[in-house]
Amino acid sequence: MAKHHKLYKISCAKCGCLLVNYKKFGAGKGILRLYMSNISFPESMVNVQENYSFIKNVPNLTCTECEEVIGLPDLSKSGKWVFRLKQGYFHRKLIKG
Ligand SMILES: [Zn+2]
Repeated sequence: MAKHHKLYKISCAKCGCLLVNYKKFGAGKGILRLYMSNISFPESMVNVQENYSFIKNVPNLTCTECEEVIGLPDLSKSGKWVFRLKQGYFHRKLIKG
């Protein structure tokens, strides 16, 4: 059974370009990191972790428009692949609560 999640648009703070849609599970308000497996848009970023053998090979999460680096690949405490977001470099908008 699918767990409840909120859906956010994550966009570049500098130019406003949409970066990804992100399914957020759990209660916390802030978004410090994006679990790669929870990215639902664009197609090229869905399950991006499956295209790489090693976390260090995953490219930074970068704005396709202005090339600002928004997130850095990292491992969560539980070993999941995430992008650690640079605070202040992105905006988020709730699109489904
Ligand atoms: Zn940008």
